Amino acid sequence: MNQDIFVIIEHLRGQVADISFVMLAAARGLAQWSGGKVIAVLLGHNADGLSGNLNCDQVLYLDHPLLADFTSDAYQKVLFGLIGEKQPRAVLFGHTTIGADVASILSARLDLPMISSGRTFASDGKFTCQICGGKIMAEGELPGSTVLVTMVPGGYKPEQGQSAQNPQVLSLPAPILEDLKVVLKQYIEPEVADIDISREPLLISVGRGIQTQDNISIAEELAEALGGVVSASRPVIDQGWLPTSRLVGKSGKAVKPKVYLAVGISGAPEHVEAITGSETIIAINTDINAPIFNLAKYGTTADLFDLVPVLTQKIRDAK
Ligand SMILES: Cc1cc2nc3c(=O)[nH]c(=O)nc-3n(C[C@H](O)[C@H](O)[C@H](O)COP(=O)(O)OP(=O)(O)OC[C@H]3O[C@@H](n4cnc5c(N)ncnc54)[C@H](O)[C@@H]3O)c2cc1C
Repeated sequence: MNQDIFVIIEHLRGQVADISFVMLAAARGLAQWSGGKVIAVLLGHNADGLSGNLNCDQVLYLDHPLLADFTSDAYQKVLFGLIGEKQPRAVLFGHTTIGADVASILSARLDLPMISSGRTFASDGKFTCQICGGKIMAEGELPGSTVLVTMVPGGYKPEQGQSAQNPQVLSLPAPILEDLKVVLKQYIEPEVADIDISREPLLISVGRGIQTQDNISIAEELAEALGGVVSASRPVIDQGWLPTSRLVGKSGKAVKPKVYLAVGISGAPEHVEAITGSETIIAINTDINAPIFNLAKYGTTADLFDLVPVLTQKIRDAK
């Protein structure tokens, strides 16, 4: 039986996504338990250069013009053949729009068990995964002889999945991709935004806890006092209280500030996956069980309406 751990590398516009490095870090521990190798699976076109800093024992590279950009159809076809043939112990996908799409369909088509929102693996092979939107952690043993896992960020740092040494790359024969139902016709860059939150060093990010549009001024005043910028979770953007360009998360931008202050944000997986690159996360949330505290270096259960105005005043006074 093959004990290797496959990691499906996600990349967009020539950049490997952070979740890929998180998965490689997770795979290293899992491979020690299973006794196999960490194998990065890279699908693309003229993309073998992306393998450079992947921390793995080997890269399996499959090149085809129709793999230049992700389509579920093409990925499914390629991975169906590869996983079916090699039968690794586990295959890790990002719990992202890409990974969740492909993994769930492959699970059904290959009749393989799947763990959703996996977070960590222990030295005895046990996994933890998030359920109920990250409010509850579940634990279990890996089922089956081959299991598919979609991984959320937060359990490992992306740097742990990076290496200065180039891994060995094994190019597999170009897959046959016929009769694809979906092909990418054009990639449309999003419009240039008012502010690029992915480049800002200090973000004051507001969530549903802010309650009303008028209350956003509380965060804006703090941001002004500190020299930062206001960003938000999805409920705030969906309400139209801030422009889409300020959305942090799966449907918005990934951010890497020096300080990310989460104000009234619970820490749902779709939000958290985009903030793991932050140097320091600080959370203000009245609910001590909010998942954001799993990630935050500092946190308080103070009411934001009590704390934030006082904080702003103290900073102004100190200036
Ligand atoms: C496909 C998909 C994509 C998504 N993409 C994104 C995305 O890109 N970004 C994103 O953010 N979400 C996204 N979501 C939504 C995500 O699942 C969550 O619903 C969302 O992140 C929750 O936002 P929140 O934390 O602001 O709200 P909630 O989960 O409602 O949390 C509000 C928090 O505020 C706290 N609070 C309330 N009052 C106070 C107070 N007075 N003081 C302090 N704390 C207080 C509460 O304790 C609570 O923890 C996506 C969902 C799906 C299904």
